[in-house]
Amino acid sequence: MSFFENTIKQIDQAAEAMKLDEEVKAILSVPKRIVEVNLPVRLKDGKLQIFKGYRVQHNDGAGPYKGGIRYHQNVDIDEIKAMATLMTMKCAAVELPLGGAKGGITFDPHEYDVEDVEEITRKFVQMIEPFIGPEIDVPAPDVNTDSQVMAWIADEFSKLKEKNVTGVVTGKPIPYGGSEGRFDATSKGGIVILDEVIAKLKMKRTDTKVAIQGFGNAGSNAANLLAAEGYKVVAVSDSKGGIHCHHGLDALSTMECKVKKGSVIRCGGHEYQPQEGDACEQISNEELLELDCDVLILAALENQITKDNAAKVKAKVVLELANGPTSAEGDQILNEQEVLVIPDIVANAGGVTVSYFEMVQNKQNYYWEPEEIEQKLKKQMLKAWKNVEKAKDKYECSYRTAAFIVALSRLKDILTVRGIA
Ligand code: NAD
Repeated sequence: MSFFENTIKQIDQAAEAMKLDEEVKAILSVPKRIVEVNLPVRLKDGKLQIFKGYRVQHNDGAGPYKGGIRYHQNVDIDEIKAMATLMTMKCAAVELPLGGAKGGITFDPHEYDVEDVEEITRKFVQMIEPFIGPEIDVPAPDVNTDSQVMAWIADEFSKLKEKNVTGVVTGKPIPYGGSEGRFDATSKGGIVILDEVIAKLKMKRTDTKVAIQGFGNAGSNAANLLAAEGYKVVAVSDSKGGIHCHHGLDALSTMECKVKKGSVIRCGGHEYQPQEGDACEQISNEELLELDCDVLILAALENQITKDNAAKVKAKVVLELANGPTSAEGDQILNEQEVLVIPDIVANAGGVTVSYFEMVQNKQNYYWEPEEIEQKLKKQMLKAWKNVEKAKDKYECSYRTAAFIVALSRLKDILTVRGIA
């Protein structure tokens, strides 16, 4: 089953449980618009290369399309369609007045000079310019894109429009219209919910062992925030593999070490002893997923927990900071094993929530203090989670299905008042 089919199946399961209007389901089962572009870019070495780029706009019933842009060698139309659909569901689940979209370019930016990445980004903006804008579609960072890439997009778009349009993207650097608290908002939002769940399960943070797959924006900030709250982060990984430190690892020095050495795998063993007497060993990504821990955080890519490894997951709680990290079959097995899965569309919604705050601040051209952002984020996440818990109790379903029910109910109301056709 492809990522997009998997996402539609999640919609179908919720639609069946809540007896959703068939017309609403039909509208939300397909993206409204797909933009596919071929970008001819003259690289620094003088050679011309054509890159494939996408922007999928799934639904804008609730407000302007919103969703990240991914740079990765495996980006394809199926993946972008799936993530655009999840964005519509996510924004609705946390009650943001935004629709859902996603974009990407199929290439590995690590293999190109920074000047080439900038050129590829600017060419992409030139080609999708008619389809984006603060009132139309507002991109944001995703895998392998960051605040610098967002600054290039806003700059190129502003040049094309011959005026300052910083609000065309979120996740920008703070001096250029970015918001306080955006860089770790995805992790922070997820941890607000995790704290609730851990408290409900009567688990103590200091006894809670956490393993984190993915050590980029979402994963490394989660490690740092969790360690600061007293959780014991025992394992982390990136695309090259992972490290397992039995007595817990120091998140900040691991972040610094990864920046210096390129991967967390070089931050274990003999070269790096985070705590006295601690032994770190290298592990594979597969081993990390099956580690003896209490909380497993998925913060890398889609389709990581599948029918092949779900039964081996030992964690009691799975927090999906990544989009679509669990396949439909994997999800069913986790449910049978009574693993509590905090589903992606609420777990990682902190990022888009603070992106929404950034849009509001850009419109006002007036910027909020970090404390205000943090307080508003926490409130929004807790409200969303309460709604999911209520739907779970009412429909006696998984948290995932409950989150989709919350989202679909809101979308149904919006589409109905707007007039479905
Ligand atoms: P990122 O590029 O900053 O980091 C991705 C990390 O995953 C890197 O450490 C990379 O090495 C690692 N990785 C890649 N393949 C891996 C593999 N097979 N096994 C283990 N690690 C692997 O990206 P990010 O922004 O942190 O995004 C991670 C996930 O979170 C994605 O699914 C993204 O869609 C989702 N997400 C991100 C945000 C955000 O605000 N950044 C918001 C919502 C959801």
